[in-house]
Amino acid sequence: MSDLIAGIDLGTTNSEIAAFTGGQVRVLGPGDTRMLPSCVGFSATGELLVGEAARNQQALYPERTVRSIKRQMGSEEKVRVGSKDFLPQEISALILRELAEWAHRALGERPQRAVITVPAYFSDAQRNATREAGALAGLEVVRILNEPTAASLAYGYGDGSRHTVLIYDLGGGTFDVSVVTVEGDITEVLASHGNNHLGGDDFDDLLAERLAAEFEKQHGVDVREGHPAAKARLWWAAEEAKKKLSFEPYAKIREEALVTRLFRPLHLEVEISRDEYEAMIRPLVESTLDSVSKALQDSGKKPGDMDAILLVGGSTRTPLVSSLLMETTGLEPRQDVHPDLAVALGAGVMASRLAGRAVDRVLVDVSPYSFGVSYLGERGGFPYSHCYNPIIRRNTPLPLTRTEPYMTSHPYQTEVDVHVYQGDDEDALKNILVGDFRIEGLTSMEDANEILCRMRLDLDGILEVAAVEKRTGKSKHIRIANALREKSAEEIAAGRERIRELYETRGEMLDDAWETTEDLEEDVVDAGARVIEMPARAGAAAAISEGETEIESLLERSRRLLAKMHPEDREEAIDLHEKIETAMASGDRAALQEATGALKELLFFVEGGN
Ligand code: AMP
Repeated sequence: MSDLIAGIDLGTTNSEIAAFTGGQVRVLGPGDTRMLPSCVGFSATGELLVGEAARNQQALYPERTVRSIKRQMGSEEKVRVGSKDFLPQEISALILRELAEWAHRALGERPQRAVITVPAYFSDAQRNATREAGALAGLEVVRILNEPTAASLAYGYGDGSRHTVLIYDLGGGTFDVSVVTVEGDITEVLASHGNNHLGGDDFDDLLAERLAAEFEKQHGVDVREGHPAAKARLWWAAEEAKKKLSFEPYAKIREEALVTRLFRPLHLEVEISRDEYEAMIRPLVESTLDSVSKALQDSGKKPGDMDAILLVGGSTRTPLVSSLLMETTGLEPRQDVHPDLAVALGAGVMASRLAGRAVDRVLVDVSPYSFGVSYLGERGGFPYSHCYNPIIRRNTPLPLTRTEPYMTSHPYQTEVDVHVYQGDDEDALKNILVGDFRIEGLTSMEDANEILCRMRLDLDGILEVAAVEKRTGKSKHIRIANALREKSAEEIAAGRERIRELYETRGEMLDDAWETTEDLEEDVVDAGARVIEMPARAGAAAAISEGETEIESLLERSRRLLAKMHPEDREEAIDLHEKIETAMASGDRAALQEATGALKELLFFVEGGN
């Protein structure tokens, strides 16, 4: 008998198959496809559809399509699909058969044996139904593996020593959190909680409702009533927008001719920001945190007792999930194994071990470093132009693209200098400069102009960084090669020299103590960088403190009066504007006070004279 054993994640929303091939465990599928939607249906002509094709018709023809059959596993009740009745395990068998076919095409051999995963809370009846589904698909199920165990194996926690991990699994329609101890192949589930009816589909619903409401407002047509095709398109568009919002600050949704009324096509066009989207889903994500607390409590553990928090399930790509988890537990969740493939990969690890291979964990290409840009923000109560937040976070699987929004920091600013750093320190100057460029010719406007910074990092270590003016799409980008390679001492020194050069050519001095100082306050006060071309981070716009808002309105008042001023006063006012801006940029409070005082005085006389 062949020693091939496949590992299968038979999921509620999607299913995957993995096997040991080419020296490692890989998830298999046709082309770039790795996930099979757990959907089965019949076409209008009675043809059996499994996966994507069934999923595509689900919204339009629910009576001849079935999804989320996993929820019914273990029940004796049949489900009707078209004109036929099926037991839940019979539907699951059709999904397993398709996965085995995927493996057959990828490996040239059809697997006869498999490890199949199930939720930790599955009863004996549910586990038996899963075994039966395997048998019906022609697979000998050599092991039924708990999903949290599979996830911990994928992350390498089955190496023999004892670990306690929290597994947070948010899929399309289910949420589970488990606290487990892993020692070799033995896993003990200490506690688990969850919600069988919570997942990414609920996020889609909220977004789709928002889109439907917008369409109704624009065109007076409610697509939720009597427009099944338009409704299906809207939900589809909502899911796409949701996925985009995991990596981009905005998603534009455009659906041409969503509905036709009186021979006139009506289009949907909406832009949703991540902030708006996150406000919608926040209560749902917060409800998962209650389950996390309960699971920890029931296991008698504290967050600090965890060796790691592992993120599993496609919906954990939502940034709000990891940020809220980090806020409540104080631990940075791991997501260095693709969250939607982790369970299948872990099943693949177990399957490979059962086939006699010494596989410790899966190999995933991740970025070993964080990358980001510096921006004008606030540190130690002062404006600081070398604030830093990574855009790409280390240990994220490659390839990847991430975008973050920034705002120009001065009225009529038409240039932005983008300084790209590698590292994690919130002070950019303590990271390594890996590239810089300037985007020019931006719209000259009084209000802050939004600049998107997009970073793409591929498996070959090529980092592309683009700055895009959101309102016009004008952009500029650079490519940095070898971004994944450890920097040599010379490269680090060259980066530092380049920073010095950049600031000095702009007539600014970097503090001499910059390279050695550890004291934040000192560092902040002394780093005398001009900020006029540096972008401020959008979320950190609040960095413009109360005092600065007041100064902005003083400058604004002065600008309005410039035209009416006597030429000598005008010259003095312009001179004072410059002094104020320079003092604000360098954090020189005394100079700032002096210049604002002088400008106030001047305006007092100018306004008095009008
Ligand atoms: P799973 O059950 O693990 O396959 O997860 C499926 C769910 O993950 C679906 O609701 C998907 O819409 C969701 N999902 C997939 N990719 C993303 C993404 N990039 N951001 C947010 N949700 C995603």
